[in-house]
Amino acid sequence: MPVYLDYNATAPVRPEVIARMQELLALPANPSSMHRFGREAKKHLENARKTIADAISAWPNEIIFTASGTEANVTALRGISRRVLVSAVEHSSVLSSLRGAERRGNPFAFAKSDKDWIASPAARNDDIIPVTSSGLIDLSALDAMLVDSAPALVSVMLANNETGVIQPIRDVSALCKKHHALLHCDAVQGLGKIAVDFGALGYDMMTLSAHKCGGPVGAAALIVCRDLAIAPLLTGGGQELGRRAGTENVAAITGFAKAVELFDFEHMRRLRGWLDGMEAEMETCGATVFGKSALRLPNTSCVAMPGVSNEVQLMDFDLKGFAVSAGSACSSGRIETSHVLVAMGIPQPLASCAIRISGGWQTTENDIQLFTEAWKQTCGRLAKKAG
Ligand code: PLP
Repeated sequence: MPVYLDYNATAPVRPEVIARMQELLALPANPSSMHRFGREAKKHLENARKTIADAISAWPNEIIFTASGTEANVTALRGISRRVLVSAVEHSSVLSSLRGAERRGNPFAFAKSDKDWIASPAARNDDIIPVTSSGLIDLSALDAMLVDSAPALVSVMLANNETGVIQPIRDVSALCKKHHALLHCDAVQGLGKIAVDFGALGYDMMTLSAHKCGGPVGAAALIVCRDLAIAPLLTGGGQELGRRAGTENVAAITGFAKAVELFDFEHMRRLRGWLDGMEAEMETCGATVFGKSALRLPNTSCVAMPGVSNEVQLMDFDLKGFAVSAGSACSSGRIETSHVLVAMGIPQPLASCAIRISGGWQTTENDIQLFTEAWKQTCGRLAKKAG
């Protein structure tokens, strides 16, 4: 039986979620319809909204359901008419929403003209906040960037998808308050792994996605503080209080809420222990573990096997029945050098030997032990050849 250790790409959907969704898929479910089917769909939608809101200490009407974390991120960054500052280790959906920053080394520079933005007719001078060698946001750099800034929107992720490094969001939030900046947090990788509290940390916006935590692809959310107006990315019908047009995917959203009900933080805590043991064994064979000096997600390890490219490792592990990733595979399947590791100042030859191991609700101690043995065997065989 292959061992799946790529939860940060997507987690297996929990069986309880599939069962719940199957019930909903059997109904004609447009929550905007006036008839009994529509009212039934609306009831399921609003129950799911309440479950998710309660889990993150938000108000139900602060939740805008979207089809993906990518859509939620892009809505957050393009829907507010402010200068945008984002960390250098953000997901490509955040980095590609900047403008003007392509000259400053944005690897995902995409939209280059004003017409690509919804809510920012005036020229903006977006910028990228550097991180330290442990992958943490450089707070003094952010402080300096916000001094005398035009009203800004800062976007810093809760935890990184490649290294698992958890950002000091409380400190970022304090700096934003000091400089009257808005704060968006991409919490896609944190949800279900660590506590995610929209109410407590003074966020203005937050992104969540169901398929990283046992729910289905196709359901995600942007949480927007009640007193903040945001321009919709998708226009048309008046769904989601006019903030996101399009019929809500009731089955997927209900599956999202079911996944939230099943979060198991105790299992996550055990998983960190197993991964720490794995990392210690790998280090005795010369491995480099990235982000280790920072607080990290309980399910993620990013490790370089010296002298063996991640592409070769991935193929070798796949043959042995382990699904891991290089953390930066693009949609074409090609592996690009990780912009996250580059931003942390890791030299390219070492960065290109890094793989990501990410577990989740179905991962067992035995899975991690089997992978550790396989890694040591591959390292003994291939690292010797490379050396
Ligand atoms: N943000 C982070 C940190 C992610 O890891 C991902 C997905 O990999 C996304 C956003 C995008 O989420 P989705 O796949 O739902 O579009």
